[in-house]
Amino acid sequence: MRPEALNPLFVEIDALDGVGPKLRKPHEKLGLTRVRDLIYHLPERFVSRRAVETLDDAAEGEQIVISLTPVEHRSPRSGRGPYRVLAQDRAGNICALTYFGRASFSARKQLPVGEKRWVAGKLDRFGDMLQIVHPDHVESESEATLGRLNEPVYGLSEGLTQPRVAGLAQQALARLPDLPEWIEPVQFDRAGWPAWRDALLLAHKGENPSARDRLAYDELLANSFALMLVRADNRRRKGQPLKGDEHLRGKLQLPFPLTGAQKRSIAEIEGDLVQDAPMLRLLQGDVGAGKTVVALYSMLIANEAGKQAALLAPTEILARQHYETIRSMAAPTGVEVVLLTGRDKGRARESILMGLLDGSIDIVIGTHAIFQDTVNYKDLGLVVIDEQHRFGVAQRLQLASKGKSTPHTLAMTATPIPRTLTLAHYGEMDASRLDEMPPGRKPIITRVMSMDRMEEIVDGIARHFETGQQAFWVCPMVHESEVADLAAAEARYAALRERFGDAVVLVHGQQKPEVKDAAMEQFVSGEAKLMVATTVIEVGVDVPNATLVVVEQAEHFGLAQLHQLRGRVGRGSEQAVCLLLRGSTLSETAKRRLALMRETQDGFRIAEEDLELRGGGELLGTRQSGDTPFRIADLEQITRLLPAAHADARLLIERDGGLASERGQAARLLLYLFERDWGVQLLRGG
Ligand code: ADP
Ligand code: MG
Repeated sequence: MRPEALNPLFVEIDALDGVGPKLRKPHEKLGLTRVRDLIYHLPERFVSRRAVETLDDAAEGEQIVISLTPVEHRSPRSGRGPYRVLAQDRAGNICALTYFGRASFSARKQLPVGEKRWVAGKLDRFGDMLQIVHPDHVESESEATLGRLNEPVYGLSEGLTQPRVAGLAQQALARLPDLPEWIEPVQFDRAGWPAWRDALLLAHKGENPSARDRLAYDELLANSFALMLVRADNRRRKGQPLKGDEHLRGKLQLPFPLTGAQKRSIAEIEGDLVQDAPMLRLLQGDVGAGKTVVALYSMLIANEAGKQAALLAPTEILARQHYETIRSMAAPTGVEVVLLTGRDKGRARESILMGLLDGSIDIVIGTHAIFQDTVNYKDLGLVVIDEQHRFGVAQRLQLASKGKSTPHTLAMTATPIPRTLTLAHYGEMDASRLDEMPPGRKPIITRVMSMDRMEEIVDGIARHFETGQQAFWVCPMVHESEVADLAAAEARYAALRERFGDAVVLVHGQQKPEVKDAAMEQFVSGEAKLMVATTVIEVGVDVPNATLVVVEQAEHFGLAQLHQLRGRVGRGSEQAVCLLLRGSTLSETAKRRLALMRETQDGFRIAEEDLELRGGGELLGTRQSGDTPFRIADLEQITRLLPAAHADARLLIERDGGLASERGQAARLLLYLFERDWGVQLLRGG
């Protein structure tokens, strides 16, 4: 049960003045459904604007407030183009007010021709025209705009405006309760941070590094607490020691010897499995490092000890791929391997459920369907989870309740992450690293090319198709407006389709799942030759025939991301190529990143350097990057504050493992506040 003190924060935003169903939607898109979410939706930055008389007084790139009179509305020529309102300053200079997508509807209403308006926004240039893209404010009264020369800038989604979000944030902040301090007193004094409530008020009000640090620290602390509670709980649980006798492993006839790293990892796993306490181990290894074989060995050990093993994959496609590989590798051992996904219905499903219950199935591979309530095991000894951090720790715990005793867990991830982030994601979980690639891999040829050479590049793709091989084309999301990014990706898609016709498919995050799945299927089956995708190419999709990946605006990606993208190719026997397309001007760090990509393919090295080279703010999603479990703390803060937060959490848990003391109670509040209450729930269970 959530502590009562937090109730005001977990009220739905509908309770705030002015929020109806219409306003709820765009908030949901940002993950803002409760008051709590609003208070932690911290400003991305603060803008300070200058009031100018005429456009001549303003510099490109400057934030300004100016009085303009609309003279003409221009609808987009194509369906996706922007809507422009041309407006004149008092000296007769023209500036375009540019709107993408649905925002144009409000422009039509707010900017009638001939009526003077006060406009606030960032002045820039499009071709030879000055423009303001999505002005922050358009008002008819000067005071309304001039009164806001300094203000926070919040992340928005379509249908929201800065004043709207700012107004709601203020309402939410007015509901903040006073909460007891959960930070260790010595640490708190030394840092000189504001108290929780003050920190939030300050962070919404202006640049305030101390307040931001405190809030980031809270998030890190909550995470460390929760992971430590999981860990402590795991140590308390009774597992079953699994001792293998090699009778199954001995029958394997692999076409290759194991690498040193594979042998070492298997030995580490074997060492865990014979313990009473359930294993909680992470297997880290780049794409192609050979994690599947390690998983197979581990599962066979469980089978040798007379137990069942399950392998959980994040998607159906991946589950199927694992199933094919593992079944064929395990064939000589005679163990029974099945695939179970959400698609299985009726008889087929019944018979698998029977087999799991009576123990005739030794290894089951599937999506989360393998852990539904209706699925029961005779004696599940080991769970292997592929691509761990798409599931999160909470789900791992649900799995734990499946066996009579807690099964051993091996989590595999293809994302080599730096040590600091390993701590953030997994706490003090034991880790095995596959830091040695199987021999005979052809390195991927990596080239950096200027976007100006587009024609040449497209010709190159045409030649590539002649060999019968496929390719990926990745478009980044870089603009402030999602709509503009999508428009850019769609424009690229349209252009490539003009050249290659139906052989091109488009995949992006805004598509309906059916549409996306259909496009993926076409590509996997080889029907489509080129997949144009926005940043996310489905993690782990294995299309060995795709041997070329083109990354547009590569300078906007972090190293780790580039490495992941490059890893989409080079899985077959053919020579793979990665083309990094760059813009005309590059920062020094961008140059270093691209150079490093050419220089190495070692994922662990890239991950460490990535962390070092990031934080300049020039990268995509540096603050809320998907590769950390945090929303408040950015990479720089994680690196700087996590060790202290971790030590802080450990100290409290060592002294007061049941979180019963006064500070322990405060820590519980923190866990609920950051929705890591699965940590608290374990306390009750134990
Ligand atoms: P991961 O899951 O880590 O991305 P896989 O387990 O799919 O990698 O292995 C990639 C490829 O390398 C597979 O074709 C596999 O058969 C092969 N492989 C694995 N281990 C070795 C090894 N020790 N020597 C040679 N090839 C190997
Ligand atoms: Mg794999």
